[in-house]
Amino acid sequence: MVNIKIKDKFFFRIYETQLLQNIIKYQIQKKSTPFPTVFQIQLINQCNGSCIMCPNIYIKGKTEFMADSLFEKIISEILKKSKSPTIILELQNEPLLDNELFRKIKYINKTFALF
Ligand code: SF4
Repeated sequence: MVNIKIKDKFFFRIYETQLLQNIIKYQIQKKSTPFPTVFQIQLINQCNGSCIMCPNIYIKGKTEFMADSLFEKIISEILKKSKSPTIILELQNEPLLDNELFRKIKYINKTFALF
C-alpha cells in the first residue's frame, strides 16, 4: 500500500516534466516523437570523483573508452536528423580523463561545419 502511494507520487512528479507530457501527447495523437535536440555521450566510463548522488561510484573494473567507430556513427546519425544539436560529452563520468577528448571535439566541429 505504501509503495503504491510512493509510485503515484513518483509518476506525478515525472508527469509534471515537459518531456513526458510531450511523449504522451505524441502517443495519443499517433505522431512520432520529435527527434531529440540535446545529446549526452559517455566517452569513458570512469571518474576521479566520488559524489554521493552519482551511480559512477558503482562502476567497477577497468577503464573503457567508446570505440571511435561507435562515436563517429552516433555523430553521423545525429547529423542526419538535427542540424544544430547540443552535444554534451559527459554523462556520469569525467570526460577529461579521455586523452582523445579534444580530437573528438574537433571531429564534431569539423563534421557539423560541413553544413
Ligand atoms: S561523474 Fe560527476 S557526479 Fe559522478 S562522481 Fe564524477 S564528478 Fe561526481
